[in-house]
Formats: sequence, structure tokens, C-alpha cells
Amino acid sequence: MFRIAAAAVAALSFMTPANAETIVIHAGTLITDAAKAASGPSTITVTDSRITAIDAGLNPAPEGTRLIDLSQHTVMPGLIDAHVHLTGDHDSAFWKGFIDTTEYGVAVGLKNAKLTLDAGVTTVRDLGSEPQTMFAIRRAISEGMHAGPRIIAAGPAISIIGGHGDVSNVRPEIIAATSGYNTCTGPKECSQRVREFSRAGADLIKITATGGVLSQQGRGLEAHFTPEEMTAITGTARSLGLKVAAHAHGARGIEAATRAGVSSIEHGTFIDDAGVRAMKENGTWYVATLMAYRGIEEQLGTGIYTPVVEGKIRETLAFVGKGLGAASRAGVPIAFGTDAGVFAHGRNNEEAAMMVERGGMEPRDVLIAATKGSAELLGVSAETGTLEIGKSADLIAVEGDPVRDIGALERIRFVMAGGREHPVAQ
Ligand SMILES: [Zn+2]
Repeated sequence: MFRIAAAAVAALSFMTPANAETIVIHAGTLITDAAKAASGPSTITVTDSRITAIDAGLNPAPEGTRLIDLSQHTVMPGLIDAHVHLTGDHDSAFWKGFIDTTEYGVAVGLKNAKLTLDAGVTTVRDLGSEPQTMFAIRRAISEGMHAGPRIIAAGPAISIIGGHGDVSNVRPEIIAATSGYNTCTGPKECSQRVREFSRAGADLIKITATGGVLSQQGRGLEAHFTPEEMTAITGTARSLGLKVAAHAHGARGIEAATRAGVSSIEHGTFIDDAGVRAMKENGTWYVATLMAYRGIEEQLGTGIYTPVVEGKIRETLAFVGKGLGAASRAGVPIAFGTDAGVFAHGRNNEEAAMMVERGGMEPRDVLIAATKGSAELLGVSAETGTLEIGKSADLIAVEGDPVRDIGALERIRFVMAGGREHPVAQ
């Protein structure tokens, strides 16, 4: 019982207090809640990793405290990326997965965790990694061994045999050696996978509800699981207190996953009116991952993608941002997620400008999605997403006013995660 409780706490908070010292931060402009108007010059006090006071004006730092001067910048809640793959790198060909060890994956993941924090992203939801790698990384960061964001981790995605998330179009010996642990056929087996991943330490369940662009499977981008399999997954997850995130491109796959009760649709490329309606009715979150398409587009023709993958890429590129526009106009809740790993980690915040330019969203709504919106989807609102007394000191400073110029999120000047100051290159 105690072990379960400890694991749950580790997932949600940075366990080790940053230090016993009190830090006083001077903010030129302060956004405590992205949905509300910003305040002028303000003083934030941080003690033992938590925000202990927020006062108007630039007040002198009491003796024995340390002052951090951000009076030239806008201070706001740390950003939350609801869709990353820390153990993956964008320029790594798919076959490297058959050569690199899972232990090496941990090293890659720690490297990317630091790059993510450099970008002002203080919380991530990792939606697909080798078994155990992300749980080890999550623990190392929460114990203060390594710099990185708070991690909410799914572990491996659950897929149909031959689906996005399984191994396809390679020698049978390789399939036999690397496939099976994350696939299921029929409601019983699908429920079993959910329980196995829960036992392994998953904070949520990720499924590939439709085909995917970057896998070698040649069965397109529409629905993959049967409705009975998806309902078995969501029902079992709910019984364990776990949400389900569904990778979904095809319109019918999006609608079916939504009706089965998933908490979020990832990508949502070809969503139609029926899908938007279903998401609105069910309160399902939309996570657009527009940066994934930019990353893919940038690498087209470099030889990294096989013909089966290139065909699927060309199907999607004309639709980038259309689904986000339709969903946000209809009032579907929007979270901020990028698919970092498909592009270089650290470029996460380019997503924000894309949400404005390609998705037609207002900058303030993007800011809400990237802070309190994603916090709600990830179930970490009590810890982060807004700056409030008692919450974790997850805060960043940007140059400029992100409500007027969303590009300010690409000018990160200061990062603090769980009360720990993280040095960023200027
Ligand atoms: Zn992904």
C-alpha cells in the first residue's frame, strides 16, 4: 500500500526539496493564471520548492534570502507539453530501434529531458517509450539526480498486431524478438495489457487507435481496434484510475475512440464534424502536435523515411492545423502537445505560434492550453499550471508579452522547476 502511494506521489511532484533557502523573485510583468489579466511588477517568494507568497511591487528581499531579478521580463507558469517522446530523436532511422539497447534509450531520454527544461517546459506527458525506460527517467528526475521536467509517463503504447506501435515490414526474426509485449487481440487481452502497464508503473495508458504516419505498417490511417477492444481498454483503465490517450488520425477512428471514452485525441488529423461533436459531448481533449508535421516535412527527401511512410506523410500535410481550427472553434478543450522526438527536443514552443498561425487560435487561448489546460488533462492542476501559493515553484521568464506576441514563448530567459533554478543559455 505504501509503495503504491509513494509511486503516485513521485509521478506528480518533484520529491526532493530543491533547498531549504528562501528565494525572492522580482517579476516585471506577472501572469499567475493565463486566463486572467497580467499584473505589473510583482514579488514571488519561493521556500522549499513551493510558492509561499505573491505580492504587488518589487519588494526588497529579506535578509538571508536570495534575490533573482526578472524585472525586465514576463514571469509565468512553466509550460506543459502533453505529448513528447523523450527517448526518441527525430533524426534516428526506424531500424536503429532494433540495434540500440533500452539502456541507451535512458541516456537519450535524460539528454532530451534537459533540452526540454531548457525550453521552459517544466512538465511533460511522455506518450510512448520502451518498457521501463521512462519510468526510470521519471524517477531519476523526481529524485533530483538529473535536470528535467516533471514526467507523467505512459510507457509503451498499446497497439493491434501489425498496427502503429507494433513492428511491421521487417524480417520475421526481428518481429519475433521485439514484438508482442504491447499488442492485443480481443477485449480480454487488451484489458490484460492495461493491467500489465499499470503494474509496471504507467501514469496513464496510450493507445494507437488508428494507423500512424511514421511506423512501417501499411494499413493506412483509419481505425484499428474494434469498438469492443477500445471499450475494454478504457473501462479497465478507468477502474485503475488511469486516463487513456488515443493516437488517432482517421475521422472514424477519432470518433470511435472518443465514444469509447478516451481522455484525449492525439493528432486528430482528419477529424470531421461528427468527431468534433463527439469530442465536445464527451469533454475529450484535443492535442494537435502541429510540430510533428513540421518535423516530418523538414526531413522529407532526406532518406530517413521509407516509401510506405512517405506515402502516409503526403496524405497528411495538406491538413495541418485544420483539425485544431475546427475543434477550438467548436469549444473542444485544447491541450498543448507537440510530439517532440519527431522533431528536435527543445523546439517544443514553436508549436504555440503554429497553433495561432495554422490553427487560428488566439494567443491567450494557446497560453491557457500550454499551462492550466494541459495541467488539467494531465491531472496535475493541484501542483502546477498556475502560480499560486502552495503550488510547486514551476515558473519561467520570457522576453516580451506572450499574450500579444506568442513568439515570446521562444525567448525563454529563466526556468525554475520544483523550486530548482535551471540555467538556460541566453
Ligand atoms: Zn507521438
